[in-house]
Amino acid sequence: MKAFTFERATDVDAAVASSAKPGARFIAGGTNLLDLMKVEVEKPAHLIDISRLPLRDIAETPEGDLTVGALVSNTDLAAHPKVRERYPMLARAVVNGASAQLRNQATTGGNLLQRTRCPYFYDVAKSCNKRTPGAGCSALQGINRMTAVLGGSDACIAAHPSDMAVALMALEATIETKGGSKGGRKIAIADFYRLPGDTPHRETNLEPGELIVSVALPPPPAGQQTYRKVRDRASYAFALVSVAAILDLDADKRVRGARLALGGVGTMPWRALDAEKGMVGAEAGDKAFAAAGAVAMAGARGRGGNDFKIPLAKRVVARTFAGLATSISKG
Ligand SMILES: Cc1cc2nc3c(=O)[nH]c(=O)nc-3n(C[C@H](O)[C@H](O)[C@H](O)COP(=O)(O)OP(=O)(O)OC[C@H]3O[C@@H](n4cnc5c(N)ncnc54)[C@H](O)[C@@H]3O)c2cc1C
Repeated sequence: MKAFTFERATDVDAAVASSAKPGARFIAGGTNLLDLMKVEVEKPAHLIDISRLPLRDIAETPEGDLTVGALVSNTDLAAHPKVRERYPMLARAVVNGASAQLRNQATTGGNLLQRTRCPYFYDVAKSCNKRTPGAGCSALQGINRMTAVLGGSDACIAAHPSDMAVALMALEATIETKGGSKGGRKIAIADFYRLPGDTPHRETNLEPGELIVSVALPPPPAGQQTYRKVRDRASYAFALVSVAAILDLDADKRVRGARLALGGVGTMPWRALDAEKGMVGAEAGDKAFAAAGAVAMAGARGRGGNDFKIPLAKRVVARTFAGLATSISKG
């Protein structure tokens, strides 16, 4: 690990001001950043520990949004009564991630900004455009079973690892920040992540030194919601495919509304808007749900080792909506 200087921020403004120091990085739970520093993938010159900032509250706004502080732990987020009641897909997504010990330490802001698990990103002896812009991508011709089939480019096919972000995509969350050139702003999660293109090292539209202070959840859309994660082990594994889905049916069992986001398959948490639109008005059943899976994966491109994710994702989408429809019909 490279040597670095360290400070513990005492308030938000001080943290943002310190972020102007050369090579400065925020550290929250440290469960991702420290691992990357140990293998010298990340080499910050200065760490700003934000873990003691007063950003640990979950509160309801007069408009009915739920605001989640950036330092709310994954454990506290998933256990919060309002989250469990109104956003069960989010609670499920979070408890499906990592392990209990990690969730106790990991924070909401850190989860959104965790880096890919592509093995070539972690292996400094291999080429990776995300780690070293212009170096090349070893995953394209390499062991690419875990990589993305949606949103990739010839520079990068690394999959986005976060479960939480997939649910937040379906729930249309907003990321609230302090610092940066605007002094702070609200960024719709749809505009937060970037496709790799030829700059895969830039993963979000955050500016250097911009601090996430909270995540706002609008009131949930009508319908039942869930999160389903398919992975190699029953726990403590990243998604091969995950699905965050919301289904609303009318009295004739036709689809009144649907939301769909996927994890494990995209270079960013993947919202499937066309699939959602295609379902509206359709009779709830296998035909409509299979079509949703097909539309969601229409632009997918496998690279050999990850080809299996395409049919798998189609089936997981269809099964997840079928499960929601059954649950709705049972009342
Ligand atoms: C073994 C293992 C298994 C895991 N399995 C899963 C899994 O199945 N699913 C899943 O989703 N995740 C999984 N994770 C990842 C885990 O969820 C993340 O490591 C964690 O959420 C990161 O949060 P943190 O607070 O520790 O972030 P840190 O490591 O502190 O920071 C991560 C990044 O975010 C930046 N950052 C942190 N907070 C802020 C802020 N408020 N504003 C601006 N920048 C900030 C840091 O500078 C850093 O770049 C796993 C991790 C491990 C180690």
